[in-house]
Amino acid sequence: MKPFSDFRSDTVTRPTEEMRRAMMEAEVGDDVLGDDPTVQKLEELAASIMGKEAGLFVPSGTMGNSIAVKMWTRELEEVIVEEKSHIYNMESTHLTFISRVTPRPLPSRRGAMDPELVRRHVRLPSVHTPRTSLICLENTHNNWGGAVLPLENFVAIRKIADEFGLKVHLDGARIFNASQASGVPVKEYAKYCDSVMFCLSKGLSSPVGSMLVSDRLTIDYARRLRKALGGGLRQVGVLAACGLISLTKMVDRLKDDHTRARRLAQAIYDLPGITLNPEEVETNIIIFYFNHPRLSIPELVNRLKEKGVLCLAVFGGVRLVTHKDVDDEDVDRAIRAFREILAT
Ligand SMILES: *Cc1c(COP(=O)(O)O)cnc(C)c1O
Repeated sequence: MKPFSDFRSDTVTRPTEEMRRAMMEAEVGDDVLGDDPTVQKLEELAASIMGKEAGLFVPSGTMGNSIAVKMWTRELEEVIVEEKSHIYNMESTHLTFISRVTPRPLPSRRGAMDPELVRRHVRLPSVHTPRTSLICLENTHNNWGGAVLPLENFVAIRKIADEFGLKVHLDGARIFNASQASGVPVKEYAKYCDSVMFCLSKGLSSPVGSMLVSDRLTIDYARRLRKALGGGLRQVGVLAACGLISLTKMVDRLKDDHTRARRLAQAIYDLPGITLNPEEVETNIIIFYFNHPRLSIPELVNRLKEKGVLCLAVFGGVRLVTHKDVDDEDVDRAIRAFREILAT
């Protein structure tokens, strides 16, 4: 048995054998000079899958979101974000640090902000206040346990954005998980957004990289922003080669991750201390709340680790993520560990 079954994140996925071979054989050039054919192929494929004109390879999802906020905003402006969103909570405040805009966090129902609430928070032009210029969505929603946003929410938010002349950016780090779970094509979500960022480096198993897609002129500007942030890379076709495999070969298998997450959730939800509705585990992320008479959250995480199961403590609870590198045996091991620790 492997030393650890690693449920901390889908970012721990190792590149496949095919990716390692593709890296070795990739045709490359200096991508800052526009010479890397493999990067160009990946950027075109990403754009076409999302139904957008152009794409940009970026080193991380955080840089993709940072560029997106910067390209759609100026100083003295405000961005509407969901209060538990990654962009607001987990990206080291690039809204203020890089874009110098104020975030306006709003509550939601499992990641989907009420369109009427959004409308009420669009600021009317005034000399006193920032001007609202951008709305950010996240699908699937990480901190809401991989929740899938309903397509109707995209439609309604787009309508408000058009009414007030706002842009919509989608943090689609796991948009392919959303699509696999809902049956809605990724293009359909993207249609209601001016730009989309998605990660190659999570469930899609590439070692590094995310994509930002939008219209051609905006991506030209995004390319300059990427350079300014230090994200212009040279023979990066070695990474783009993996990205091409992510997009062509690694999407369909995400549904296996969802099946495993649901099975794990169903097996542990009624153990003492755990608050979890297994019906709400829609994709590959389980977040449960934990309140136990004898065990704190860090103690639970440590006891699980002693039994070879890795997971992460998050605000008031524990997060487990399924991905390519955990299989049914790992899930069985996790279920056994939870039962041994809690069901006694
Ligand atoms: C992981 C993640 C990101 C950022 O990706 P990094 O590559 O880790 O910077 C952005 N948004 C969401 C929802 C994520 O889960």
